[in-house]
Amino acid sequence: MKERYDVIIVGTGVAGLNAALNLPKEKSVLIICKGAPEESDSELAQGGICRLQGEEDYKSYFDDTMRAGHGENNAAAVDCMLKNSEEATDALISLGVRFARNADGSLAVTREGGHSKNRILFHEDCTGREITEKLMQAVRALGNVEIVQNAVMLDLLTDGNECFGLIIRCGEVTRAVFSDYTVLASGGIGGVFEKSTNFRLLTGDGVAVCLKHGVAVDNVNYIQFHPTTLYSEKKGRSFLISESVRGEGAHLLDKNFNRFTDELQPRDVVTASILRQMQADETPFVWLDMRPIRKEEIKSHFPMIVQKCAEEGIDVFKECVPVVPAQHYFMGGIRSGLDGRTTMNRLYAVGETCCNGVHGANRLASNSLLESIIFAERAGRDISQNYKAADAEAAGRAYASLDMEEYADAEKILSENKKILLKAIKEAENVKPRNTCFGRR
Ligand SMILES: Cc1cc2nc3c(=O)[nH]c(=O)nc-3n(C[C@H](O)[C@H](O)[C@H](O)COP(=O)(O)OP(=O)(O)OC[C@H]3O[C@@H](n4cnc5c(N)ncnc54)[C@H](O)[C@@H]3O)c2cc1C
Repeated sequence: MKERYDVIIVGTGVAGLNAALNLPKEKSVLIICKGAPEESDSELAQGGICRLQGEEDYKSYFDDTMRAGHGENNAAAVDCMLKNSEEATDALISLGVRFARNADGSLAVTREGGHSKNRILFHEDCTGREITEKLMQAVRALGNVEIVQNAVMLDLLTDGNECFGLIIRCGEVTRAVFSDYTVLASGGIGGVFEKSTNFRLLTGDGVAVCLKHGVAVDNVNYIQFHPTTLYSEKKGRSFLISESVRGEGAHLLDKNFNRFTDELQPRDVVTASILRQMQADETPFVWLDMRPIRKEEIKSHFPMIVQKCAEEGIDVFKECVPVVPAQHYFMGGIRSGLDGRTTMNRLYAVGETCCNGVHGANRLASNSLLESIIFAERAGRDISQNYKAADAEAAGRAYASLDMEEYADAEKILSENKKILLKAIKEAENVKPRNTCFGRR
């Protein structure tokens, strides 16, 4: 790792990678990630990525997104995402992403809760891995990008309301690394919850450092709990049973194997009815019955889910799967415009860590990969088009104001960051209660 780059990006998920792909090729770019590059939620995405199904789908897709978000969405952001969805998914295909196809070669589309029609592209039940791998290949083929793993952002390097880089711990060394622009693509916050589908290392560090430096954040208590994760007594990451399983016809059943809800309502509504049912039945889970889905469809569309359940001793072709809600997604985050700019100069935020309002109070299924990819591209282009080198004197002042001793204990800083985030969530929840699931933290 060098002392200075033109741009530093925090995160190797789809947002960080697509931002890098849209920066000028002559600029030096550093991408860091907290663990291995594959330890991103982007790699875990199962269900798919939305794509507008022609102009006639616009109103329906727009309304579905707004309905799921309880009307709290930023309509301009939704409009921008929908109008760019065909171009963005075409760009992925041109990078080699293999989406499922119909017999005539056209793109196959599936459905998930909250969608009034099929509009989700997918690759088996590992769409995220397919997309992330192809984006990573494209980034690695660039000559100007250095990727450093196990490199942890501990803080922003700032002078006034301007960002000049980061404090990074890499191995045993903690140092300041300078940049003209910094892009936070540091993902979700699941690691601060006991039960979450997210990688445990995703603890909302980007949001916490922004809170510390007075960079605006919004809706930090807008947290989505996915209705169906595999029930397990084991500790660690909860395994997601994709919503498209219900989209393809799976049923939710109570302890007496009766249906108790409409499985295709938006996530927060299904989660709430599952929690009510668990309380009424006094059970730690409800059942998910995949047997209404054709056997061939299960085999071709959901191989990873079949395998994971088999590892847990469950044969999805013969028996029901025990499922329980778990923390899944963060709708709130670092306030950002449609070009990824935050309220701090030279600092951008994209992907799950940012809040541009596109998801409102509740994200519609399969809108997240799309949002991350589109707004990261816009941030990359915004930096390219408005590039201005940082003032060396101000950057020097930022460095001079540092006391590197304060960063000696990195674990302590990360743990304090978690506390800062949890406190902000609690305070926001007190002001405007949003989440019935906090008891599960
Ligand atoms: C199980 C699961 C299934 C999903 N399915 C779908 C789906 O089907 N469709 C859909 O649209 N969305 C889905 N999502 C949501 C979607 O995958 C994520 O919202 C999206 O991929 C986020 O991308 P990102 O690039 O913002 O963050 P991530 O892909 O999570 O990447 C975050 C990166 O930031 C790095 N990072 C974090 N903190 C630091 C730090 N302090 N220092 C250095 N690096 C740091 C991490 O190491 C990582 O590289 C799913 C999520 C999960 C968990």
